[in-house]
Amino acid sequence: MERFAIVGFGCAGCHALKALRAAGCSAAVDVYSDTGLPPYNPMLTTYYVKGKIPYEAMFPFGSMEQLKQELSFTLFDQCTAASIDAGARTLRRTDGTVQTYDKILVSTGARAFVPPVGTLPDERIFSMRSVEDAVRLKEALAGGTLRRVLVVGASMVGIKIVELLEERGIEVVLSDLAPHIFPTAAFAETSRRIEGELRERGIVLRFGEKTTGACEQDGRAEVSFSGGDREIVDAVVVCIGTRTALDCLAPEQVEIDRGVVVDEHMQTSVPDLFAAGDCCQGRDLSIEGTRLIGLWANAVCQGETAGKNMAGLDAAYPGNLLHNITHFMDMDFVSFGDKSLPGERRVFVDKGRQYAEATISDGRVRCINLLNLFKNSGAVKNYMLRALYRHDTPADAQMKAVLLKSGLPRELTELLMGGEGT
Ligand SMILES: Cc1cc2nc3c(=O)[nH]c(=O)nc-3n(C[C@H](O)[C@H](O)[C@H](O)COP(=O)(O)OP(=O)(O)OC[C@H]3O[C@@H](n4cnc5c(N)ncnc54)[C@H](O)[C@@H]3O)c2cc1C
Repeated sequence: MERFAIVGFGCAGCHALKALRAAGCSAAVDVYSDTGLPPYNPMLTTYYVKGKIPYEAMFPFGSMEQLKQELSFTLFDQCTAASIDAGARTLRRTDGTVQTYDKILVSTGARAFVPPVGTLPDERIFSMRSVEDAVRLKEALAGGTLRRVLVVGASMVGIKIVELLEERGIEVVLSDLAPHIFPTAAFAETSRRIEGELRERGIVLRFGEKTTGACEQDGRAEVSFSGGDREIVDAVVVCIGTRTALDCLAPEQVEIDRGVVVDEHMQTSVPDLFAAGDCCQGRDLSIEGTRLIGLWANAVCQGETAGKNMAGLDAAYPGNLLHNITHFMDMDFVSFGDKSLPGERRVFVDKGRQYAEATISDGRVRCINLLNLFKNSGAVKNYMLRALYRHDTPADAQMKAVLLKSGLPRELTELLMGGEGT
């Protein structure tokens, strides 16, 4: 009987195993998980901290017992896959045991990147990725001693932390080295509008400045910035991004860029070694190449594709677009595509709190920001994806009518449908 390994049991690993079994594959599967927890959804951690969902709701796939019954696998729980010899198809566990596999999936995700914050003690520093991170922050908030908090990183995760702190009446300072909020996704005018609303709500914004040091001072934390200012806070939450968890792979054996590089079949540069989810760099439809796209739906599709191919089917995942759909503090910010792509920039909606701006080239929408236009976002994303990998799809009159009825301007609708927007 064939023997497979799934290394890392989050969204991508779990979807791979489900797809593998759904394809009728009866191989023995060893699952390695370093958490001691069932697969969880990192997106839900901030909702748990807020008190919007109970602890159990962070585990959308059910308990490990239910999963074992449903999917039949051997679990190596709280067990880190220390190294994989891609050529020999062996995996070494931290206890030194070595096991040979016919096929291996690496679905190890990513970890919050938290560099040292000056000389501050660990208990003042928080991040948000894992269930443990969420439990720690929730406990600290329950302690009632956090009056003022610095959130470093004006990212999608950072803003969710700002929101939950503000809801509790905690003073918040949001800082980023970049000059504006959501530096990788928002155009300057979109950022300016969001920043205006945040300031009105009392959030202190420190953009374009680096944190240069931090130390304990009279029972609080004193953080200094490159502009020379200091902030006194009770805790620092670091939301400056993630790093792929690829310690188990050897770069001299497998092609690794910022993530492990995969093709449309989730196959790495080594036969029978697959990768899926936040640890891998798959195809980005907006560029001629691969890129890390750390999104839940991407991990689902990549996991499913890897599982099917491991089962012997021929499945391909064409790729995705960078995108963010974020609701925070009565604002909806949606962005699709890469804001650094060249093209003509046009404003399509500028009405009260609603704003839409896009980059257009070759008669197509390459990147779009939608502010407080949430109800249009699903259709906009679908049409951008369709235009990028099915250039010849004829416009669908019914869908066009739906987009126009939803309030999307005619010019933008026609561009999304593949017309010239005239
Ligand atoms: C606060 C927050 C908000 C988010 N919001 C959104 C959102 O709004 N929309 C969206 O699409 N996405 C969002 N995301 C991203 C989304 O959660 C991820 O894209 C998705 O969870 C990736 O799944 P994964 O299976 O690749 O990785 P993970 O969920 O990280 O799972 C990987 C697992 O592998 C384990 N592991 C790592 N190394 C080893 C090893 N060597 N041996 C054994 N086990 C190992 C890890 O502990 C982990 O359990 C958010 C993430 C966070 C943190």
